[in-house]
Amino acid sequence: MQTHGTHAVVMGAGMGGLLAARVLARHYESVTVLDRDTLPDAARPRRGVPQGPHGHTLLPRGGALLDAFFPGLLADLEGRGVPVIRDDADEIHFEPLGHHLVGTAPGPEAAIHVPSRPMLEQRVREHLAALPTVRILERCTVDGLVTGSGGVAGVRATGPDGPFELDADLVVDALGRGSRTPVWLTELGFPRPDEDTVKVRGAYSSLQLRIESGALAEKMVLISATADRPTGAAMFRHENEMWDVSVFGVGGHAPPTATAGMVDFAAEFAPAHVVDALRSAEPLTEPNSRTFPASRWRRYDRMRAFPDGLLVLGDGVCSLNPTYGQGMTVAAMQAEALAATLRRGAHDLPRRYFRAAAKPIRDTWHLAAVADRAILGAATGPLPWPIRALAPFGDTFFGAVADDPVLLDRFLQVFTLYAPPTRLLTPDAGLRVARAALRRRGQAGTTPPAPTEANRAGATSGSSAAPAVTEPGVGPPA
Ligand SMILES: Cc1cc2nc3c(=O)[nH]c(=O)nc-3n(C[C@H](O)[C@H](O)[C@H](O)COP(=O)(O)OP(=O)(O)OC[C@H]3O[C@@H](n4cnc5c(N)ncnc54)[C@H](O)[C@@H]3O)c2cc1C
Repeated sequence: MQTHGTHAVVMGAGMGGLLAARVLARHYESVTVLDRDTLPDAARPRRGVPQGPHGHTLLPRGGALLDAFFPGLLADLEGRGVPVIRDDADEIHFEPLGHHLVGTAPGPEAAIHVPSRPMLEQRVREHLAALPTVRILERCTVDGLVTGSGGVAGVRATGPDGPFELDADLVVDALGRGSRTPVWLTELGFPRPDEDTVKVRGAYSSLQLRIESGALAEKMVLISATADRPTGAAMFRHENEMWDVSVFGVGGHAPPTATAGMVDFAAEFAPAHVVDALRSAEPLTEPNSRTFPASRWRRYDRMRAFPDGLLVLGDGVCSLNPTYGQGMTVAAMQAEALAATLRRGAHDLPRRYFRAAAKPIRDTWHLAAVADRAILGAATGPLPWPIRALAPFGDTFFGAVADDPVLLDRFLQVFTLYAPPTRLLTPDAGLRVARAALRRRGQAGTTPPAPTEANRAGATSGSSAAPAVTEPGVGPPA
């Protein structure tokens, strides 16, 4: 493997930072990761990752990438009691698309591992720390960059023993949504990056529960927001029989912030057996509530000039509507882009890396934005052409997806980030959508449509949600 320098520094030991450090360890003689938090030995939430106590799902594509970066990671998680979902319809309740989600990934990775976010991060950190050339320094707050004639040459930080500087051939900002690079750029005389945004106006309340063993067959319950109902829920069974439960709203609809209110809120749309399980569950934590104003993509890929020696990875580049559960997988895809870029050398690195990383980000961004637009309409704010053009077909498209198993399989491969959206933009896919639309129009004129699994679930619960087949907002909530 080609070595590009003696030392690299990664700022931030969240999922993006840990993955960046894994990639850099192949090309730099040593790598230092800095984080301001005390990093727990056990799987515990921490202050620097406030989204940690909110339910996270690791999409199959993200799981496969993580296992490629850290061979044996998924087996390690499984060995620690992390539930795994393997193409068993009873293990997922996913509205409005029924019980699918697994089995879409090609090959043996067709499984969803369901670690809590603190468990996942802690195991990834342990695997990284086992590399002899990597050191992780906790309780070190990054204060700024060190610059030299060739660009960025290191970082300034404050640790338990006071301020210090680290020289580095490459510095990666993986500080998450608090990324400082836009400010640092202006201090260095560069413009700030353009930002694409989609207004989501989302709000979450989450808590951990213990649900009596056997009370719920599912390991995951995902109920998406729709155009008719801008609220939803996500429940994940994690290690130690612990459940992360989140209820959410988008478009300014905030869920209650107290436990009883959260359950009543979920009862408005969740199936009866899920609500029963929630009512009899034992709360393990107080609810934790947060807001998510907008998805944001900083367009470093469009900048004409960028300082040498500095990159950004993770939420600092792109943070997406969390209800689709894509953020960690997108961070892993950025790390994959970094690995591919470094394999071809370190010349002109920022420009080459940001362009490579923009490809998977763009696909995911468009998917999420089309779904947001279908749910929230013009409230998302101005969106670029392909999204504006596709959004009005949301109803027809998602109706066809729910009716046609071939289309559904392709859609899930795209939504779980295994295949690019172009997989759905083929003449055959167009024909299938048109045929399904005609079929449905015919049915509407004669007999009522046959209930789908999701309809049935709604009917069982007495849910007031619109029939699943006409609901446009699909995607696994987080
Ligand atoms: C409510 C919610 C639910 C989500 N659900 C999902 C999901 O289901 N699936 C999914 O894939 N993604 C989900 N995401 C997104 C996911 O959490 C992020 O995409 C992912 O964590 C990105 O990681 P990151 O490393 O970029 O940032 P972070 O994980 O936020 O890490 C940033 C790190 O930087 C450190 N730091 C910050 N400032 C400093 C400083 N000055 N000095 C030193 N260290 C510093 C912090 O301590 C932290 O460790 C969700 C997000 C939210 C908000």
